[in-house]
Amino acid sequence: PMDPQAMFKQGFLNEVFNERPMKPVVTRFPPEPNGYLHIGHAKAIAVNFGFAKYHGGKCYLRFDDTNPEAEEEKYFTAIEEMVRWLGFEPYKITYSSDNFGKLYELAEKLITIGKGYVCHCDDDEIKLQRGGEKGATPRYRCKHADQTVEENLQKFRDMRDGNYKPREAFLRMKQDITDGNPQMWDLAAYRVLDKPHHRTGADWKIYPTYDFTHCLCDSFEGITHSLCTVEFVLSRVSYEWLNRELGVYEPMQREYGRLSISGTVLSKRKLKELVDKKIVRDWDDPRLYTLIAVRRRGVPPGAILEFVNELGVTTSNSIIQITRFEQTIRRYLERTVPRLMLVLDPLPVVIEDADEFDGAELTVPFSPKNPAMGDHKIKFTKTVYIDRSDFREVDSKDYFRLAPGKTVGLLQAPFPIKATSFTTDEATGKVKEVRAVFDRETKKPKTFIQWVGAEGSGSRKCEVRIHNPLFKSENPAAAEGGYLNDLNPESEIIYPDAMIESGFEEVKRRAPWPEAAGEDKLGKGGPESVRFQAMRVAYFAMDSDSTDDKIVLNRIVSLKEDKEK
Ligand code: ATP
Ligand code: MG
Ligand code: MG
Repeated sequence: PMDPQAMFKQGFLNEVFNERPMKPVVTRFPPEPNGYLHIGHAKAIAVNFGFAKYHGGKCYLRFDDTNPEAEEEKYFTAIEEMVRWLGFEPYKITYSSDNFGKLYELAEKLITIGKGYVCHCDDDEIKLQRGGEKGATPRYRCKHADQTVEENLQKFRDMRDGNYKPREAFLRMKQDITDGNPQMWDLAAYRVLDKPHHRTGADWKIYPTYDFTHCLCDSFEGITHSLCTVEFVLSRVSYEWLNRELGVYEPMQREYGRLSISGTVLSKRKLKELVDKKIVRDWDDPRLYTLIAVRRRGVPPGAILEFVNELGVTTSNSIIQITRFEQTIRRYLERTVPRLMLVLDPLPVVIEDADEFDGAELTVPFSPKNPAMGDHKIKFTKTVYIDRSDFREVDSKDYFRLAPGKTVGLLQAPFPIKATSFTTDEATGKVKEVRAVFDRETKKPKTFIQWVGAEGSGSRKCEVRIHNPLFKSENPAAAEGGYLNDLNPESEIIYPDAMIESGFEEVKRRAPWPEAAGEDKLGKGGPESVRFQAMRVAYFAMDSDSTDDKIVLNRIVSLKEDKEK
Protein backbone atom coordinates (compact mmCIF):
# COMPACT_ATOMS: atom_id res chain seq x y z
CA PRO A 1 0.00 0.00 0.00
CA MET A 2 1.12 3.55 -0.68
CA ASP A 3 2.36 6.03 1.91
CA PRO A 4 -0.79 7.30 3.66
CA GLN A 5 0.71 10.80 3.78
CA ALA A 6 1.96 10.95 0.21
CA MET A 7 -0.39 13.80 -0.68
CA PHE A 8 1.33 16.08 1.83
CA LYS A 9 4.90 15.00 1.12
CA GLN A 10 4.95 15.74 -2.57
CA GLY A 11 3.17 17.77 -5.20
CA PHE A 12 0.87 20.72 -4.72
CA LEU A 13 0.42 20.61 -0.94
CA ASN A 14 4.14 20.22 -0.38
CA GLU A 15 4.76 23.27 -2.58
CA VAL A 16 2.12 25.25 -0.71
CA PHE A 17 3.85 24.50 2.55
CA ASN A 18 7.28 25.36 1.19
CA GLU A 19 5.96 28.64 -0.10
CA ARG A 20 5.07 29.54 3.45
CA PRO A 21 6.80 27.13 5.83
CA MET A 22 5.08 28.52 8.91
CA LYS A 23 4.63 26.65 12.13
CA PRO A 24 2.20 26.03 13.55
CA VAL A 25 0.13 25.52 10.46
CA VAL A 26 -3.45 26.71 10.92
CA THR A 27 -6.15 25.72 8.42
CA ARG A 28 -9.92 25.60 8.28
CA PHE A 29 -12.67 23.59 6.60
CA PRO A 30 -15.40 26.16 5.89
CA PRO A 31 -18.64 24.51 4.72
CA GLU A 32 -21.80 26.46 4.24
CA PRO A 33 -24.42 24.61 6.33
CA ASN A 34 -26.91 24.46 3.48
CA GLY A 35 -26.81 20.76 2.58
CA TYR A 36 -25.28 17.37 3.27
CA LEU A 37 -21.62 16.90 2.47
CA HIS A 38 -20.73 14.76 -0.51
CA ILE A 39 -17.70 12.82 -1.65
CA GLY A 40 -16.10 16.02 -3.02
CA HIS A 41 -16.19 17.56 0.44
CA ALA A 42 -14.30 14.55 1.77
CA LYS A 43 -11.38 15.77 -0.31
CA ALA A 44 -11.67 19.25 1.20
CA ILE A 45 -11.75 17.71 4.69
CA ALA A 46 -8.79 15.45 3.95
CA VAL A 47 -6.83 18.39 2.50
CA ASN A 48 -7.51 20.88 5.29
CA PHE A 49 -7.56 18.66 8.35
CA GLY A 50 -4.88 16.39 6.93
CA PHE A 51 -2.50 19.23 6.05
CA ALA A 52 -2.70 20.64 9.56
CA LYS A 53 -2.33 17.22 11.14
CA TYR A 54 0.66 16.37 8.97
CA HIS A 55 2.44 19.57 9.96
CA GLY A 56 1.49 19.25 13.63
CA GLY A 57 -0.87 22.23 13.41
CA LYS A 58 -4.57 22.80 13.92
CA CYS A 59 -7.66 22.97 11.76
CA TYR A 60 -10.89 24.78 12.52
CA LEU A 61 -14.30 23.59 11.47
CA ARG A 62 -15.87 26.89 10.51
CA PHE A 63 -19.50 27.07 9.54
CA ASP A 64 -19.77 29.71 6.89
CA ASP A 65 -23.25 30.71 7.94
CA THR A 66 -23.71 34.17 6.48
CA ASN A 67 -26.74 33.40 4.36
CA PRO A 68 -29.80 32.83 6.58
CA GLU A 69 -31.92 32.05 3.52
CA ALA A 70 -30.27 28.73 2.72
CA GLU A 71 -29.07 27.37 6.05
CA GLU A 72 -30.66 24.87 8.39
CA GLU A 73 -29.88 23.58 11.86
CA LYS A 74 -29.77 19.90 10.90
CA TYR A 75 -26.85 20.44 8.53
CA PHE A 76 -24.59 21.74 11.29
CA THR A 77 -24.84 18.49 13.19
CA ALA A 78 -24.53 16.34 10.09
CA ILE A 79 -21.41 18.16 8.91
CA GLU A 80 -19.64 17.95 12.25
CA GLU A 81 -20.51 14.27 12.47
CA MET A 82 -18.95 13.60 9.07
CA VAL A 83 -15.70 15.38 9.96
CA ARG A 84 -15.38 13.21 13.06
CA TRP A 85 -16.42 10.11 11.16
CA LEU A 86 -13.54 10.71 8.76
CA GLY A 87 -11.28 10.60 11.81
CA PHE A 88 -10.59 14.30 12.35
CA GLU A 89 -10.99 16.39 15.45
CA PRO A 90 -11.69 20.08 14.87
CA TYR A 91 -9.36 22.32 16.88
CA LYS A 92 -12.41 24.54 17.44
CA ILE A 93 -15.83 24.83 15.92
CA THR A 94 -16.52 28.37 14.85
CA TYR A 95 -19.21 30.26 12.98
CA SER A 96 -18.70 33.12 10.57
CA SER A 97 -21.78 34.65 12.18
CA ASP A 98 -19.93 34.91 15.50
CA ASN A 99 -17.91 37.61 13.77
CA PHE A 100 -20.84 39.74 12.59
CA GLY A 101 -19.94 42.48 15.08
CA LYS A 102 -16.27 42.56 14.13
CA LEU A 103 -17.08 42.38 10.44
CA TYR A 104 -19.42 45.32 10.81
CA GLU A 105 -16.69 47.36 12.51
CA LEU A 106 -14.28 46.56 9.68
CA ALA A 107 -16.88 47.54 7.11
CA GLU A 108 -17.11 50.95 8.78
CA LYS A 109 -13.32 51.10 8.78
CA LEU A 110 -13.29 50.33 5.06
CA ILE A 111 -15.65 53.25 4.48
CA THR A 112 -13.56 55.50 6.71
CA ILE A 113 -10.38 54.84 4.73
CA GLY A 114 -12.27 55.69 1.54
CA LYS A 115 -12.41 52.11 0.27
CA GLY A 116 -16.11 51.45 0.63
CA TYR A 117 -19.29 53.11 -0.59
CA VAL A 118 -23.01 52.51 -0.41
CA CYS A 119 -24.49 51.98 -3.86
CA HIS A 120 -28.13 52.13 -4.97
CA CYS A 121 -27.77 50.77 -8.49
CA ASP A 122 -29.81 47.81 -9.74
CA ASP A 123 -28.48 44.68 -11.43
CA ASP A 124 -28.74 46.07 -14.96
CA GLU A 125 -26.83 49.21 -14.05
CA ILE A 126 -24.14 47.22 -12.31
CA LYS A 127 -23.76 44.97 -15.30
CA LEU A 128 -23.20 48.01 -17.53
CA GLN A 129 -20.65 49.43 -15.10
CA ARG A 130 -18.79 46.15 -15.34
CA GLY A 131 -18.51 46.35 -19.11
CA GLY A 132 -21.97 45.21 -20.20
CA GLU A 133 -22.73 42.08 -22.17
CA LYS A 134 -19.45 40.23 -22.84
CA GLY A 135 -17.57 43.17 -21.29
CA ALA A 136 -17.64 44.97 -24.63
CA THR A 137 -18.15 48.51 -23.32
CA PRO A 138 -15.76 50.53 -21.12
CA ARG A 139 -16.07 50.01 -17.39
CA TYR A 140 -17.04 52.94 -15.20
CA ARG A 141 -18.11 53.79 -11.67
CA CYS A 142 -21.52 55.11 -10.70
CA LYS A 143 -22.01 58.45 -8.95
CA HIS A 144 -22.33 56.72 -5.57
CA ALA A 145 -18.61 56.09 -5.66
CA ASP A 146 -18.15 59.85 -5.25
CA GLN A 147 -20.09 60.12 -1.98
CA THR A 148 -18.15 61.41 1.00
CA VAL A 149 -17.03 59.19 3.84
CA GLU A 150 -19.70 60.79 6.06
CA GLU A 151 -22.46 60.14 3.53
CA ASN A 152 -21.37 56.52 3.14
CA LEU A 153 -21.15 55.98 6.89
CA GLN A 154 -24.61 57.45 7.37
CA LYS A 155 -26.09 55.32 4.61
CA PHE A 156 -24.38 52.17 5.86
CA ARG A 157 -25.76 52.79 9.36
CA ASP A 158 -29.16 53.31 7.78
CA MET A 159 -28.78 49.95 6.09
CA ARG A 160 -27.93 48.42 9.45
CA ASP A 161 -30.89 50.12 11.13
CA GLY A 162 -33.40 48.77 8.64
CA ASN A 163 -34.02 52.04 6.82
CA TYR A 164 -33.55 50.42 3.42
CA LYS A 165 -35.37 47.52 1.85
CA PRO A 166 -33.43 44.70 0.23
CA ARG A 167 -31.82 45.85 -3.06
CA GLU A 168 -32.33 49.55 -2.30
CA ALA A 169 -28.78 49.84 -1.05
CA PHE A 170 -25.67 47.71 -0.69
CA LEU A 171 -22.13 48.29 0.46
CA ARG A 172 -19.43 48.00 -2.21
CA MET A 173 -15.70 47.77 -1.89
CA LYS A 174 -13.87 50.49 -3.80
CA GLN A 175 -11.25 48.39 -5.53
CA ASP A 176 -9.66 48.96 -8.93
CA ILE A 177 -11.93 48.80 -11.94
CA THR A 178 -8.95 49.19 -14.29
CA ASP A 179 -7.67 45.80 -13.14
CA GLY A 180 -8.31 42.98 -15.64
CA ASN A 181 -9.68 40.78 -12.86
CA PRO A 182 -13.47 41.07 -12.39
CA GLN A 183 -12.97 40.33 -8.69
CA MET A 184 -11.55 43.87 -8.45
CA TRP A 185 -14.56 45.60 -9.93
CA ASP A 186 -16.08 46.99 -6.75
CA LEU A 187 -17.58 43.82 -5.30
CA ALA A 188 -20.50 43.76 -2.92
CA ALA A 189 -19.54 43.62 0.76
CA TYR A 190 -22.91 43.86 2.57
CA ARG A 191 -26.51 43.43 1.52
CA VAL A 192 -29.80 44.29 3.16
CA LEU A 193 -31.75 41.19 4.08
CA ASP A 194 -34.60 41.19 6.55
CA LYS A 195 -34.38 37.53 7.54
CA PRO A 196 -33.80 36.10 11.00
CA HIS A 197 -30.56 34.19 11.38
CA HIS A 198 -30.54 30.88 13.26
CA ARG A 199 -27.75 32.10 15.54
CA THR A 200 -28.09 35.86 15.69
CA GLY A 201 -31.87 35.97 15.47
CA ALA A 202 -33.24 39.36 14.44
CA ASP A 203 -30.05 41.25 15.43
CA TRP A 204 -29.05 41.99 11.86
CA LYS A 205 -30.84 43.33 8.85
CA ILE A 206 -27.67 43.32 6.78
CA TYR A 207 -25.45 40.37 5.99
CA PRO A 208 -21.86 40.29 4.66
CA THR A 209 -21.02 38.59 1.36
CA TYR A 210 -18.63 35.70 0.89
CA ASP A 211 -16.01 38.02 -0.61
CA PHE A 212 -16.09 40.25 2.43
CA THR A 213 -16.44 37.54 5.06
CA HIS A 214 -14.16 34.71 4.08
CA CYS A 215 -10.78 36.44 4.00
CA LEU A 216 -11.52 38.33 7.22
CA CYS A 217 -12.66 35.24 9.13
CA ASP A 218 -9.52 33.48 7.92
CA SER A 219 -7.55 36.43 9.23
CA PHE A 220 -9.31 36.46 12.64
CA GLU A 221 -8.48 32.80 13.13
CA GLY A 222 -4.86 33.22 12.11
CA ILE A 223 -5.21 30.82 9.19
CA THR A 224 -1.75 30.36 7.69
CA HIS A 225 -2.77 28.44 4.57
CA SER A 226 -6.27 29.05 3.28
CA LEU A 227 -6.87 26.14 0.93
CA CYS A 228 -9.87 26.35 -1.36
CA THR A 229 -10.98 25.02 -4.72
CA VAL A 230 -9.89 26.38 -8.10
CA GLU A 231 -13.03 28.33 -8.89
CA PHE A 232 -11.67 30.82 -6.35
CA VAL A 233 -8.44 31.52 -8.23
CA LEU A 234 -9.65 34.94 -9.38
CA SER A 235 -10.92 35.68 -5.89
CA ARG A 236 -7.41 35.42 -4.52
CA VAL A 237 -6.79 39.01 -5.61
CA SER A 238 -9.78 40.44 -3.76
CA TYR A 239 -9.03 38.19 -0.77
CA GLU A 240 -5.57 39.70 -0.49
CA TRP A 241 -6.77 43.20 -1.29
CA LEU A 242 -9.28 43.40 1.56
CA ASN A 243 -6.98 42.05 4.26
CA ARG A 244 -4.20 44.36 3.12
CA GLU A 245 -6.37 47.48 2.93
CA LEU A 246 -7.75 46.84 6.41
CA GLY A 247 -4.29 46.14 7.79
CA VAL A 248 -5.22 42.80 9.36
CA TYR A 249 -3.24 39.55 9.49
CA GLU A 250 -2.85 38.12 5.99
CA PRO A 251 -3.36 34.40 5.41
CA MET A 252 -2.20 32.86 2.13
CA GLN A 253 -4.91 31.51 -0.16
CA ARG A 254 -4.05 28.70 -2.56
CA GLU A 255 -6.40 26.68 -4.78
CA TYR A 256 -6.65 22.93 -5.47
CA GLY A 257 -8.79 20.96 -7.92
CA ARG A 258 -12.29 19.79 -7.11
CA LEU A 259 -13.12 16.13 -6.99
CA SER A 260 -16.19 14.89 -8.81
CA ILE A 261 -17.52 11.41 -9.43
CA SER A 262 -18.97 10.56 -12.81
CA GLY A 263 -22.05 8.41 -13.31
CA THR A 264 -23.90 10.16 -10.52
CA VAL A 265 -25.25 13.55 -9.46
CA LEU A 266 -24.05 15.57 -6.47
CA SER A 267 -25.97 18.80 -6.71
CA LYS A 268 -28.38 19.50 -3.88
CA ARG A 269 -31.27 20.28 -6.17
CA LYS A 270 -30.97 16.98 -8.03
CA LEU A 271 -30.46 14.94 -4.89
CA LYS A 272 -33.51 16.57 -3.36
CA GLU A 273 -35.57 15.65 -6.38
CA LEU A 274 -34.46 12.01 -6.14
CA VAL A 275 -35.44 11.95 -2.47
CA ASP A 276 -38.74 13.80 -2.94
CA LYS A 277 -39.79 11.55 -5.82
CA LYS A 278 -38.90 8.51 -3.68
CA ILE A 279 -36.51 7.22 -6.31
CA VAL A 280 -34.07 6.65 -3.47
CA ARG A 281 -34.82 5.85 0.17
CA ASP A 282 -33.43 9.11 1.55
CA TRP A 283 -30.38 11.39 1.48
CA ASP A 284 -28.38 8.52 2.89
CA ASP A 285 -29.48 5.94 0.33
CA PRO A 286 -26.42 3.77 -0.36
CA ARG A 287 -26.70 4.49 -4.09
CA LEU A 288 -25.91 8.17 -3.54
CA TYR A 289 -22.54 9.83 -2.99
CA THR A 290 -23.38 12.06 -0.09
CA LEU A 291 -21.08 11.16 2.78
CA ILE A 292 -23.99 9.92 4.90
CA ALA A 293 -24.91 7.61 2.02
CA VAL A 294 -21.37 6.38 1.53
CA ARG A 295 -21.21 5.73 5.26
CA ARG A 296 -24.52 3.88 5.33
CA ARG A 297 -23.33 1.73 2.47
CA GLY A 298 -20.45 0.61 4.69
CA VAL A 299 -17.50 2.31 3.02
CA PRO A 300 -14.87 2.77 5.75
CA PRO A 301 -13.65 6.35 6.23
CA GLY A 302 -10.09 5.08 5.82
CA ALA A 303 -10.90 3.94 2.29
CA ILE A 304 -12.13 7.42 1.40
CA LEU A 305 -8.96 9.00 2.73
CA GLU A 306 -6.91 6.45 0.83
CA PHE A 307 -8.84 7.31 -2.32
CA VAL A 308 -8.12 11.03 -1.95
CA ASN A 309 -4.48 10.31 -1.22
CA GLU A 310 -4.15 8.04 -4.26
CA LEU A 311 -5.63 10.62 -6.58
CA GLY A 312 -3.25 13.20 -5.18
CA VAL A 313 -3.86 16.92 -4.96
CA THR A 314 -3.16 19.18 -7.94
CA THR A 315 -4.59 22.38 -9.32
CA SER A 316 -6.86 20.62 -11.80
CA ASN A 317 -10.38 19.44 -11.24
CA SER A 318 -10.83 15.72 -11.64
CA ILE A 319 -13.80 13.62 -12.63
CA ILE A 320 -13.31 10.10 -11.39
CA GLN A 321 -15.33 7.05 -12.35
CA ILE A 322 -17.29 5.25 -9.65
CA THR A 323 -15.41 2.06 -10.52
CA ARG A 324 -12.11 3.67 -9.56
CA PHE A 325 -13.49 4.64 -6.15
CA GLU A 326 -14.75 1.09 -5.75
CA GLN A 327 -11.35 -0.38 -6.57
CA THR A 328 -9.85 1.51 -3.65
CA ILE A 329 -12.65 0.43 -1.34
CA ARG A 330 -12.23 -3.19 -2.41
CA ARG A 331 -8.50 -3.15 -1.79
CA TYR A 332 -9.07 -1.55 1.59
CA LEU A 333 -11.70 -4.07 2.66
CA GLU A 334 -9.63 -6.96 1.42
CA ARG A 335 -7.10 -6.33 4.14
CA THR A 336 -9.33 -5.05 6.91
CA VAL A 337 -12.51 -7.10 7.21
CA PRO A 338 -13.28 -10.67 8.34
CA ARG A 339 -14.79 -13.29 6.06
CA LEU A 340 -18.05 -15.15 6.46
CA MET A 341 -20.32 -17.38 4.42
CA LEU A 342 -23.60 -16.05 3.09
CA VAL A 343 -26.02 -17.34 0.48
CA LEU A 344 -28.26 -14.90 -1.35
CA ASP A 345 -30.82 -17.35 -2.65
CA PRO A 346 -30.70 -20.47 -0.47
CA LEU A 347 -31.26 -23.92 -1.94
CA PRO A 348 -31.33 -26.84 0.54
CA VAL A 349 -28.98 -29.74 -0.11
CA VAL A 350 -29.57 -32.88 1.95
CA ILE A 351 -26.35 -34.85 2.33
CA GLU A 352 -27.72 -38.31 2.88
CA ASP A 353 -24.65 -39.92 4.42
CA ALA A 354 -23.71 -36.99 6.66
CA ASP A 355 -25.36 -38.22 9.87
CA GLU A 356 -22.05 -38.51 11.74
CA PHE A 357 -21.26 -34.85 10.93
CA ASP A 358 -24.70 -33.44 11.68
CA GLY A 359 -24.02 -30.70 14.23
CA ALA A 360 -20.22 -31.11 14.02
CA GLU A 361 -18.28 -28.02 15.05
CA LEU A 362 -15.81 -26.62 12.54
CA THR A 363 -13.13 -24.05 13.39
CA VAL A 364 -12.89 -21.43 10.71
CA PRO A 365 -10.43 -18.51 10.48
CA PHE A 366 -11.94 -15.05 10.04
CA SER A 367 -9.23 -14.21 7.56
CA PRO A 368 -6.89 -16.56 5.70
CA LYS A 369 -4.35 -13.71 5.46
CA ASN A 370 -4.52 -12.14 8.89
CA PRO A 371 -4.32 -14.61 11.80
CA ALA A 372 -4.71 -11.69 14.25
CA MET A 373 -8.39 -11.71 13.36
CA GLY A 374 -8.72 -15.10 15.03
CA ASP A 375 -11.21 -17.82 14.22
CA HIS A 376 -14.73 -18.88 15.06
CA LYS A 377 -16.84 -22.00 15.22
CA ILE A 378 -19.65 -22.92 12.90
CA LYS A 379 -21.85 -26.00 12.83
CA PHE A 380 -22.01 -28.35 9.93
CA THR A 381 -25.46 -29.83 9.34
CA LYS A 382 -26.83 -32.70 7.33
CA THR A 383 -28.89 -30.22 5.39
CA VAL A 384 -26.88 -27.26 4.15
CA TYR A 385 -27.97 -24.28 2.11
CA ILE A 386 -26.04 -23.37 -0.98
CA ASP A 387 -26.70 -20.57 -3.41
CA ARG A 388 -29.20 -21.43 -6.12
CA SER A 389 -26.74 -20.14 -8.72
CA ASP A 390 -24.26 -22.84 -7.70
CA PHE A 391 -26.56 -25.67 -8.84
CA ARG A 392 -27.49 -26.72 -12.37
CA GLU A 393 -30.10 -29.26 -13.31
CA VAL A 394 -28.06 -30.34 -16.33
CA ASP A 395 -24.33 -30.79 -16.06
CA SER A 396 -21.87 -29.78 -18.72
CA LYS A 397 -18.13 -30.25 -19.24
CA ASP A 398 -17.10 -26.69 -18.66
CA TYR A 399 -19.16 -26.36 -15.47
CA PHE A 400 -17.49 -27.00 -12.11
CA ARG A 401 -20.10 -26.47 -9.45
CA LEU A 402 -22.94 -28.71 -8.28
CA ALA A 403 -25.04 -30.77 -10.74
CA PRO A 404 -26.38 -34.31 -10.79
CA GLY A 405 -23.37 -36.61 -10.85
CA LYS A 406 -20.94 -33.76 -10.29
CA THR A 407 -18.73 -33.08 -7.28
CA VAL A 408 -18.09 -29.70 -5.70
CA GLY A 409 -16.18 -28.66 -2.59
CA LEU A 410 -17.97 -27.02 0.35
CA LEU A 411 -15.69 -24.47 2.00
CA GLN A 412 -14.42 -25.82 5.35
CA ALA A 413 -16.60 -28.95 5.18
CA PRO A 414 -15.31 -32.46 5.93
CA PHE A 415 -15.71 -33.73 2.35
CA PRO A 416 -16.81 -32.53 -1.07
CA ILE A 417 -20.36 -33.45 -2.07
CA LYS A 418 -21.81 -35.02 -5.19
CA ALA A 419 -25.41 -34.38 -6.20
CA THR A 420 -27.53 -37.46 -6.75
CA SER A 421 -31.00 -36.07 -7.49
CA PHE A 422 -33.27 -33.07 -7.08
CA THR A 423 -36.92 -32.20 -6.85
CA THR A 424 -38.69 -29.26 -8.41
CA ASP A 425 -41.63 -27.21 -7.30
CA GLU A 426 -44.63 -28.05 -9.43
CA ALA A 427 -46.01 -24.55 -9.49
CA THR A 428 -42.84 -22.62 -10.30
CA GLY A 429 -40.68 -25.29 -11.92
CA LYS A 430 -37.82 -24.15 -9.72
CA VAL A 431 -35.53 -26.61 -7.98
CA LYS A 432 -36.84 -27.22 -4.46
CA GLU A 433 -34.27 -29.51 -2.92
CA VAL A 434 -31.09 -31.29 -3.91
CA ARG A 435 -29.98 -34.65 -2.61
CA ALA A 436 -26.30 -35.39 -2.38
CA VAL A 437 -23.69 -37.68 -0.82
CA PHE A 438 -20.17 -37.08 0.39
CA ASP A 439 -17.55 -37.73 -2.26
CA ARG A 440 -14.78 -39.18 -0.10
CA GLU A 441 -12.55 -39.97 -3.10
CA THR A 442 -12.12 -36.56 -4.70
CA LYS A 443 -9.42 -34.84 -2.69
CA LYS A 444 -9.16 -31.63 -4.67
CA PRO A 445 -12.41 -30.52 -6.25
CA LYS A 446 -12.04 -27.85 -8.93
CA THR A 447 -14.32 -25.44 -7.09
CA PHE A 448 -15.33 -24.74 -3.50
CA ILE A 449 -18.63 -23.04 -2.83
CA GLN A 450 -19.99 -21.35 0.26
CA TRP A 451 -22.88 -22.75 2.31
CA VAL A 452 -24.66 -22.12 5.58
CA GLY A 453 -25.95 -24.61 8.11
CA ALA A 454 -29.62 -25.35 8.58
CA GLU A 455 -31.77 -23.19 10.86
CA GLY A 456 -31.08 -24.06 14.45
CA SER A 457 -27.33 -24.28 13.83
CA GLY A 458 -26.89 -20.55 14.46
CA SER A 459 -27.32 -19.33 10.92
CA ARG A 460 -29.95 -16.67 10.29
CA LYS A 461 -32.14 -15.33 7.59
CA CYS A 462 -31.37 -11.81 6.42
CA GLU A 463 -32.34 -9.29 3.78
CA VAL A 464 -29.61 -8.40 1.35
CA ARG A 465 -29.62 -5.26 -0.77
CA ILE A 466 -27.36 -5.24 -3.78
CA HIS A 467 -26.72 -1.77 -5.12
CA ASN A 468 -25.77 -0.98 -8.66
CA PRO A 469 -25.21 2.43 -10.22
CA LEU A 470 -28.32 4.58 -9.96
CA PHE A 471 -27.84 5.85 -13.50
CA LYS A 472 -27.20 4.19 -16.81
CA SER A 473 -24.80 6.71 -18.31
CA GLU A 474 -21.51 8.23 -17.24
CA ASN A 475 -23.00 11.71 -17.33
CA PRO A 476 -26.61 11.51 -16.16
CA ALA A 477 -26.97 15.29 -15.97
CA ALA A 478 -26.42 15.45 -19.74
CA ALA A 479 -28.65 12.48 -20.58
CA GLU A 480 -31.45 12.98 -23.07
CA GLY A 481 -34.55 13.95 -21.14
CA GLY A 482 -32.44 14.74 -18.06
CA TYR A 483 -31.02 12.58 -15.30
CA LEU A 484 -34.44 11.27 -14.25
CA ASN A 485 -34.62 9.69 -17.67
CA ASP A 486 -31.34 7.90 -17.13
CA LEU A 487 -32.27 5.79 -14.11
CA ASN A 488 -30.99 2.23 -13.94
CA PRO A 489 -34.02 0.00 -13.22
CA GLU A 490 -31.69 -2.50 -11.53
CA SER A 491 -30.03 -0.05 -9.18
CA GLU A 492 -31.28 -1.96 -6.14
CA ILE A 493 -31.83 -5.71 -6.11
CA ILE A 494 -33.23 -7.22 -2.94
CA TYR A 495 -32.74 -10.77 -1.73
CA PRO A 496 -35.35 -11.07 1.02
CA ASP A 497 -34.51 -14.65 2.08
CA ALA A 498 -30.73 -14.69 2.16
CA MET A 499 -28.97 -16.62 4.92
CA ILE A 500 -25.88 -15.72 6.91
CA GLU A 501 -23.73 -18.07 8.97
CA SER A 502 -23.48 -17.93 12.78
CA GLY A 503 -20.10 -16.13 12.73
CA PHE A 504 -22.00 -12.94 11.97
CA GLU A 505 -22.82 -12.53 15.68
CA GLU A 506 -19.15 -12.27 16.56
CA VAL A 507 -18.39 -10.00 13.61
CA LYS A 508 -21.11 -7.72 14.91
CA ARG A 509 -19.90 -7.84 18.48
CA ARG A 510 -16.29 -7.07 17.52
CA ALA A 511 -17.02 -4.41 14.89
CA PRO A 512 -15.28 -2.35 13.56
CA TRP A 513 -12.35 -4.80 13.76
CA PRO A 514 -9.55 -2.30 14.40
CA GLU A 515 -6.98 -5.15 14.30
CA ALA A 516 -6.36 -4.39 10.66
CA ALA A 517 -6.72 -0.66 10.24
CA GLY A 518 -7.03 1.26 13.49
CA GLU A 519 -10.29 2.43 14.93
CA ASP A 520 -10.23 5.95 13.46
CA LYS A 521 -9.93 4.54 9.96
CA LEU A 522 -13.03 2.38 10.25
CA GLY A 523 -15.63 4.62 11.82
CA LYS A 524 -17.07 3.77 15.19
CA GLY A 525 -20.39 2.74 16.48
CA GLY A 526 -22.94 2.60 13.72
CA PRO A 527 -24.41 -0.54 12.16
CA GLU A 528 -22.38 0.16 9.01
CA SER A 529 -19.17 -0.59 10.87
CA VAL A 530 -20.28 -4.24 10.93
CA ARG A 531 -18.48 -5.21 7.71
CA PHE A 532 -17.35 -8.47 6.23
CA GLN A 533 -16.50 -10.24 3.06
CA ALA A 534 -19.15 -12.79 2.12
CA MET A 535 -16.95 -15.33 0.43
CA ARG A 536 -17.59 -15.64 -3.30
CA VAL A 537 -20.36 -13.02 -3.07
CA ALA A 538 -19.28 -9.47 -2.17
CA TYR A 539 -18.37 -7.14 0.68
CA PHE A 540 -21.26 -6.25 2.97
CA ALA A 541 -22.17 -3.99 5.84
CA MET A 542 -25.15 -3.95 8.15
CA ASP A 543 -27.82 -1.42 7.22
CA SER A 544 -29.41 0.97 9.68
CA ASP A 545 -32.80 -0.62 8.94
CA SER A 546 -31.62 -3.70 10.88
CA THR A 547 -33.38 -4.62 14.13
CA ASP A 548 -32.75 -7.33 16.70
CA ASP A 549 -35.09 -9.57 14.77
CA LYS A 550 -34.10 -8.70 11.27
CA ILE A 551 -30.69 -8.23 9.72
CA VAL A 552 -30.47 -6.06 6.62
CA LEU A 553 -27.22 -6.01 4.69
CA ASN A 554 -25.92 -3.61 2.05
CA ARG A 555 -23.44 -4.59 -0.57
CA ILE A 556 -20.49 -2.22 -0.20
CA VAL A 557 -18.72 -3.38 -3.37
CA SER A 558 -18.49 -6.52 -5.43
CA LEU A 559 -15.43 -8.76 -5.06
CA LYS A 560 -14.20 -8.00 -8.53
CA GLU A 561 -14.88 -5.21 -10.94
CA ASP A 562 -17.92 -5.93 -13.06
CA LYS A 563 -16.50 -6.39 -16.54
CA GLU A 564 -19.72 -5.61 -18.41
CA LYS A 565 -19.69 -1.97 -17.43
P1 ATP B 1 -21.54 22.32 -3.18
O1 ATP B 1 -22.21 23.39 -3.99
O2 ATP B 1 -21.28 21.05 -3.89
O3 ATP B 1 -22.15 22.15 -1.83
P2 ATP B 1 -19.70 24.26 -2.20
O4 ATP B 1 -18.44 24.74 -2.81
O5 ATP B 1 -20.85 25.17 -2.11
O6 ATP B 1 -20.08 22.90 -2.91
P3 ATP B 1 -19.21 24.41 0.61
O7 ATP B 1 -20.18 23.85 1.55
O8 ATP B 1 -19.14 25.88 0.50
O9 ATP B 1 -19.46 23.71 -0.80
O10 ATP B 1 -17.78 23.79 0.73
C1 ATP B 1 -16.94 23.67 1.84
C2 ATP B 1 -15.55 23.44 1.31
O11 ATP B 1 -15.52 22.24 0.53
C3 ATP B 1 -15.12 24.56 0.38
O12 ATP B 1 -13.79 24.90 0.70
C4 ATP B 1 -15.21 23.95 -0.99
O13 ATP B 1 -14.27 24.52 -1.85
C5 ATP B 1 -14.93 22.48 -0.71
N1 ATP B 1 -15.52 21.64 -1.74
C6 ATP B 1 -16.81 21.64 -2.14
N2 ATP B 1 -17.01 20.76 -3.13
C7 ATP B 1 -15.80 20.19 -3.38
C8 ATP B 1 -15.34 19.20 -4.30
N3 ATP B 1 -16.16 18.65 -5.19
N4 ATP B 1 -14.05 18.85 -4.27
C9 ATP B 1 -13.21 19.41 -3.38
N5 ATP B 1 -13.58 20.33 -2.48
C10 ATP B 1 -14.86 20.73 -2.47
MG1 MG C 1 -22.27 23.75 -0.26
MG1 MG D 1 -20.56 27.29 -1.18
